Amino acid sequence: MISNAQISQLYNAQHDYFDSGVTHPYAFRKAMLQKLKKAIQRYEPRILEALKLDLHKHPLEAYSSEVGFLYEEIAYIAANLKQWMEPEVVTSPFVTYPSSSRVYREPLGLTLIIAPWNYPFMLQLSPLVGAIAGGNCAILKPSELAPHTATVITDLIKDTFEPAYISVVEGEGGTVIPALMAFRFDHVFFTGSIPVGKKIMEMAVPHLTPVTLELGGKSPCVVDEKVNVKVAAKRIVWSKFWNAGQTCVAPDYLLVHHKIKEALVAALKEAIVEFFGENPAASQDYARMINTRRFDAVAAYLKEGRVLHGGQTDREQRYIAPTLLEEVEWDDPVMQEEIFGPVLPVLTFETLPQAIQAIKKNPYPLALYVFTKSKKTEKALIEQVRFGGGCVNNALVHLTNPELPFGGAGYSGMGQYHGRYSFDTFTHAKGMLKTATWLDVPVKYPPFKNKLGLLKKIMK
Ligand code: NAD
Repeated sequence: MISNAQISQLYNAQHDYFDSGVTHPYAFRKAMLQKLKKAIQRYEPRILEALKLDLHKHPLEAYSSEVGFLYEEIAYIAANLKQWMEPEVVTSPFVTYPSSSRVYREPLGLTLIIAPWNYPFMLQLSPLVGAIAGGNCAILKPSELAPHTATVITDLIKDTFEPAYISVVEGEGGTVIPALMAFRFDHVFFTGSIPVGKKIMEMAVPHLTPVTLELGGKSPCVVDEKVNVKVAAKRIVWSKFWNAGQTCVAPDYLLVHHKIKEALVAALKEAIVEFFGENPAASQDYARMINTRRFDAVAAYLKEGRVLHGGQTDREQRYIAPTLLEEVEWDDPVMQEEIFGPVLPVLTFETLPQAIQAIKKNPYPLALYVFTKSKKTEKALIEQVRFGGGCVNNALVHLTNPELPFGGAGYSGMGQYHGRYSFDTFTHAKGMLKTATWLDVPVKYPPFKNKLGLLKKIMK
């Protein structure tokens, strides 16, 4: 466990490093992004092994969502960085004539990046890519609940960067984070649960530290009457049971038009068997709950409805079968809490306004998905429900597009990242107006006398 004296030493070293200006130039940032990519490539076998040990992730799943994802992100940001760093020339109002205006994007300074356990590698390093691109120093705090991955992150970072530039601090969040946040960071980027997110915000208050909070919530998945049932079922099963439902943007529950419930449930069952076999416990492609505490919480939901499919559990293996549940009540914990596991409640609706009202019982979800052929349904949900982001006729994949902002709304969080949004989050927009001296318009100077009339003509 790191001592307060060690934290203080690390903090001061990072301060000096940042103040030296070494992290600012484009060449440095680009070189560090490339260095990070090479390090991830070197560590790839260890990363995949750690993810297998922590979450029983299949290498394909681990590669695509934790490693390959980062390669793409680094490539995209590195390719655009030079252009983003250029000061942006904007117009100036006539009253400031003769002036020109520019927006400079400057590094923030010292950043703290706190990660959860569900995508423990990607969710730690993806914000780091933004911090590097923004010209900052960073302290990383991996989740102690994915200990193998935390060790790999520590080794990789130690092996690649000077501690005064980027460092990892491991340990139990409730102890280590308050000790770190006693110091003033220029930005704290937190991914995790809503209750801990609130604590992070409280800890940021004394130093007025800006925070990005990437939180969770209950993300609804609406399946309309007019829909390609087979395709919808496959995409829903894939997205819900990827990482055994432990994905912040996994569909939390289904809201299905009552006329197609039977057909959809049949197709969902078929897709589960096609993907994971008759006995998913034997499948190499299916993950496990992170720990017994989470196993117990998710297994308890099985008693709150009627199991339509699955429902088998093995506590020792932390295994819960891909499960469809019906006859749940909105007041039950399964419909009040973020499920974050492989249990999918199937609820029905008769009219779209009914579905929208139901979604609003758990306001501000992180994601919303709608499967429909109807433009009207699509438009109504996008316009009438507040949520972080989402997909039409798909799920999860919106976060793979670096052109799209990723983040929550309301209770699911604040701030965005990925692509240009990462760069913006990790830089300060400094607006500068420059005025030539060959002309000095006297209208603003006292004595004001009859100048009001002239001013009214200019400023209308
Ligand atoms: P968590 O909030 O328990 O932990 C996240 C981090 O906070 C960990 O590093 C942990 O050590 C630290 N922490 C824990 N208790 C703390 C405390 N008292 N004070 C300070 N720090 C503390 O979350 P989790 O269980 O690791 O992750 C699951 C949650 O994260 C879910 O709600 C999920 O939806 C959310 N999540 C969100 C996203 C997103 O991108 N929006 C992504 C993944 C997970």
